[in-house]
Amino acid sequence: MTSSDLRDSILHHLKYSLGKDAAHAVTQDWRMALSLAVRDRITDPWFDATRTAYAGQNKRVYYLSMEFLIGRLLQDAIVNLGLLETAHEAFTDLGLPLDTVLSNEPDAALGNGGLGRLAACFIESLSSLAVPAMGYGIRYEHGLFKQSFVQGRQIEAPEDWLQQTHAWEFERPESTYHIGFGGRVVQKDGRSVWEPEDGLIAQAYDTPVIGWKGRWANTLRLWSAKPTQIFDLDRFNSGDYIAASAPETLARTISRVLYPDDTTPQGKELRLKQEFFFTAASLRDALRRFESEYDDLHLLPQKVAFQLNDTHPAIAGPELVRLLHDERGLPMDEAIATARGCLAYTNHTLLPEALERWPVELMGRLLPRHLQIIERIDAAHAAEKPDRRANALEDGEVKMGELAFIMGHKVNGVSALHTDLMKQTVFKELHRLHPDRIINQTNGVTPRRWVLGANPRLSTLITDAIGDGWVGDLEQLSGLETHLDDAGFLDRFAAAKRGNKTDLVDWVQRNQGIALDPDAMFDVQIKRIHEYKRQHLNILEAIALWQEIRDNPNADWTPRVKIFGGKAAPGYVFAKEIIHLINDVAAVLNADPVTSKYLKVVFLPNYNVTLAERLIPASDLSEQISTAGKEASGTGNMKFALNGAPTIGTLDGANVEIREHVGTDNFFLFGMTAPEVDARRELGDHAAQAIAADPRLARALDAVRDDTFAPGDPGRHAGIAENLSGHDYFVVCSDFTDYWRAQREVDAAYADQGGWMRMAALNTARSGWFSSDRSMRGYLADIWRTGPALGADGE
Ligand SMILES: *Cc1c(COP(=O)(O)O)cnc(C)c1O
Repeated sequence: MTSSDLRDSILHHLKYSLGKDAAHAVTQDWRMALSLAVRDRITDPWFDATRTAYAGQNKRVYYLSMEFLIGRLLQDAIVNLGLLETAHEAFTDLGLPLDTVLSNEPDAALGNGGLGRLAACFIESLSSLAVPAMGYGIRYEHGLFKQSFVQGRQIEAPEDWLQQTHAWEFERPESTYHIGFGGRVVQKDGRSVWEPEDGLIAQAYDTPVIGWKGRWANTLRLWSAKPTQIFDLDRFNSGDYIAASAPETLARTISRVLYPDDTTPQGKELRLKQEFFFTAASLRDALRRFESEYDDLHLLPQKVAFQLNDTHPAIAGPELVRLLHDERGLPMDEAIATARGCLAYTNHTLLPEALERWPVELMGRLLPRHLQIIERIDAAHAAEKPDRRANALEDGEVKMGELAFIMGHKVNGVSALHTDLMKQTVFKELHRLHPDRIINQTNGVTPRRWVLGANPRLSTLITDAIGDGWVGDLEQLSGLETHLDDAGFLDRFAAAKRGNKTDLVDWVQRNQGIALDPDAMFDVQIKRIHEYKRQHLNILEAIALWQEIRDNPNADWTPRVKIFGGKAAPGYVFAKEIIHLINDVAAVLNADPVTSKYLKVVFLPNYNVTLAERLIPASDLSEQISTAGKEASGTGNMKFALNGAPTIGTLDGANVEIREHVGTDNFFLFGMTAPEVDARRELGDHAAQAIAADPRLARALDAVRDDTFAPGDPGRHAGIAENLSGHDYFVVCSDFTDYWRAQREVDAAYADQGGWMRMAALNTARSGWFSSDRSMRGYLADIWRTGPALGADGE
């Protein structure tokens, strides 16, 4: 496709699809027209992929996830189709910068954080690998809330990405399923039949996801809830318009909002309804497809794989058994075995408060047949493994982790450390019963979005050095190592980083009115705000450093900008206090005439995928400082390493593997290990001991406690001070001293720019393993037992 072909297609869509005259088109019109023109290029490979999968009778992978944090789609599609240059030229002809058009797209924020972003990377990788696959989720009307700050406090506003027409989706009015709730179970001809009392319609919306080089496209199918009856005509005719539309309002509630919390289950009926809604629709859709091709249900495990992204779709176990046994007549034991052959479960957290459990009363009321089937599943499991008890039903609750484990043929952790801890803690008993079931699949990120799209300067440099094979085979980045002794290469690497930093400086100046020095070290912590992620450890170190610079302003300080980004769940009070503290500290430090040339703090509001794409390429230092044993994997850590930002971090999640890959000299390690954390907690007064041993820490905490950062309002941050000097569950104080030491090593290393750039480039060269293509190959080999439908040559 030439740039004039693309320009013609854009003008065609502007006129005939959008009904706009080019003379009056606004940016949004151009963005829509470009999206439609690009979408046209995806449709053929998309249809071809479907035909190929049917013709080859390939096994299909279904990735079930409550969240898909896909972000913007236009640039990703253009990059994967190899049309970036063409699009630049087309818009040069049209007299509008392409970047302006691209940045008009709203972020599809259908996820909270890492878990949802992982699902998005996986779907893209499955397309890039040409694996017949489908992502199933919910088409939330409102994605994750928009965050702003008022006087340092987080304010939430509803997100409205569907306010503008979503350019990528195809509505499928014919792909609908009736989803029931409540009611009762009756016996008919010796069979149990669920007769739901309420119901609604799940309707599909399809978004094609194009893979690298446009060879293959899979579908992201998101379900939207519609009423079975649009409105109550009798009530309408009698003039009661609000009551007339009640059925629609109620039904739509199911797909209205994303729960804004990724670590604690909401004890809400609505949440369980959402989970059943999308899981049941997805299973039925997949079974319909299977039955259009095969008539023997025993083939199901050979032809269909369902991956449960966390326990949110774990109701898939009993629902699939119900579909096979109640509705299709397979004997119960066979139904359970067949379902297990198809299902596998990815665990994402060991935090006890985040493991989903539903009261039996609620499950019985909403899903009465499923509760019975869960009892049967437990009984069958106990019969099979009579020596020990490890049930899904316990103490009046349905434990979704146990249910997913028992109903999955494989259960995977998301980093080596997390998988080991899973065996020792949450699933200890089940692991003993099924020693081959737990496996590890370390997370990854897609290089198309996180390097090629987000960091064109670095990408050009890499391609100039080693060719462009790395985009589809990221481990080729190791070829960069031979270039590291070439001073010219490191100079260009430094220039790319510097260019990205200058772009960020301009953007921060325009959007936040804060002036930053591009020569300062950009030290970045961006992720959800959570105690275990320890943003408060980071800000405490900033306070201590500020105090030290004030004591000694003429010393040789390494200038630093500490950049934060991240949202707190609206109900998570302590996380919101951390945000408030960081903003208050920023206000004082940035206004300090003595220290601000060495140390600034910036909290950028509304962290999302687009902001991550802007920040990560401009970062020098990656903060991955969670309490050891608490972060399952992390994927932010991988994005930074790939973009040449060395990590300061603990031995937690995938940090362990990143350090092994990049080399211990190129990673700033600090802090206790997971067993050391557990032992430390045994000391009741670990925080007091740590504070007594480190005057810097004591002084920083004093400043949090008094009114240093809350002029006229002492006590504003007392909650944090009390927590840290009290029970300090996440051992912030006990890791502080070592964190300080590691940060001063970072200062010294950064002061030697030649050495730093080498270290940064080594991080890029040695992080190729962290591609989500590698993760997907692991799932394909060890869990799904299938592979690409196309050979490397496209045949
Ligand atoms: C990668 C990513 C995350 C995950 O970050 P972690 O540091 O692994 O928690 C969360 N949100 C967004 C927008 C991301 O891009």
